[in-house]
Amino acid sequence: MSESISSTSAQTSTRTEQSSRGRHNRGGRAGGRPYHRRGQSERHSENSAQSSNGICKFDKIDRVKGNTDSTSFNENGCIICTEPITFYAVANCNHRTCHLCSLRLRALYKIKNCAYCKTEQTKVIFTRDPEKPFQDYGDTDLPYKDEKLNIFCEDQEIYDDMLIRLKFNCPDKKCEVICDGWQDLKKHVRREHKLWLCDLCVQHKKIFTEEHKLFTRNQLDKHYTEGDESGFTGHPRCDFCRIDFYGDDELYEHCRNSHEQCHICLQAGIRHQYYIDYNELEQHFRNDHFLCLHQECLDKKFVVFKTDIDLKAHELETHGSYISGQRAKQHEARRIEVNFISYGESLRNRRRNQESQKIEVTTMKVVDLQLKKLCGKYRTKNQTPL
Ligand SMILES: [Zn+2]
Ligand SMILES: [Zn+2]
Ligand SMILES: [Zn+2]
Ligand SMILES: [Zn+2]
Ligand SMILES: [Zn+2]
Ligand SMILES: [Zn+2]
Ligand SMILES: [Zn+2]
Repeated sequence: MSESISSTSAQTSTRTEQSSRGRHNRGGRAGGRPYHRRGQSERHSENSAQSSNGICKFDKIDRVKGNTDSTSFNENGCIICTEPITFYAVANCNHRTCHLCSLRLRALYKIKNCAYCKTEQTKVIFTRDPEKPFQDYGDTDLPYKDEKLNIFCEDQEIYDDMLIRLKFNCPDKKCEVICDGWQDLKKHVRREHKLWLCDLCVQHKKIFTEEHKLFTRNQLDKHYTEGDESGFTGHPRCDFCRIDFYGDDELYEHCRNSHEQCHICLQAGIRHQYYIDYNELEQHFRNDHFLCLHQECLDKKFVVFKTDIDLKAHELETHGSYISGQRAKQHEARRIEVNFISYGESLRNRRRNQESQKIEVTTMKVVDLQLKKLCGKYRTKNQTPL
């Protein structure tokens, strides 16, 4: 019995499978900090995928059913994917999209609102009619129904098309195999085509099964690390844990839950800088901020300040005394650094001033010269020879 992707799209590939692919040579830094980012990952913009993937072209269904007459396209195209429409989807608000975008939203995204006006669509009709209002369809007009998605179809061809889209079709264009689930499909493409599916894309990308890409081992490695020509720049990795994530959001969520972030740096606008654990973060506090070194505060964790003054105020108030040693050294180091910067800057400023003075002098000289010439001319012109 085949399962349908609408109910199993959240199925995931196991992490063991990911790590068993031996991607040890991908250039990540073990325990590096902050975490390593290979570049911006595609947010897997479904809209762009829709228009570029040929989603609304019916190559698969035509192939499966030997059907070639389903190409009476509407000129205006679908408001979501912009592709020409063969079968329309319409609901109570009477906005029409192509049936595939409607099916994708309902089955894969679990969204039941109109993409255009956001009205809730409890029931959707798939039809060939570009204009007939939703309210004019009677029960006898819609003999085919998918109970779970509450989609009503005008005829069997539309209904079959919908069912086929929700099955585990092999993404190879020349292959007509329909599998029983993701694991089955993965085995099939490996065995029959010597190709792989990307586990992360399978898990997260909301597209129909046949729209997924198949990769050779090398292509798959490249897909993870570099991405592809579509603008996708690879799946980001947490270098602390050596785990890959679908996109930045998933990576950041992992980092927030599993690693540490400095709240002082965060307030200063430094985002997405993580430390593997609290020990690393504490080291950062010691190096770059003002950490209270009293044991009770070290045990409490996160007792750290932006300025020396704040720390002193805390020490007086909470502990009644300062700890000078390490912190004084820390402060001294900062002072030298600051002084160096101001020295460097003053040097640059001085040079700049000298340069502008030079320009002024040159300009003055030119003006002077011109004046002299003018005066000379004036003199020669007006001087009455004696
Ligand atoms: Zn569409
Ligand atoms: Zn609407
Ligand atoms: Zn196949
Ligand atoms: Zn992928
Ligand atoms: Zn991690
Ligand atoms: Zn910090
Ligand atoms: Zn303290």
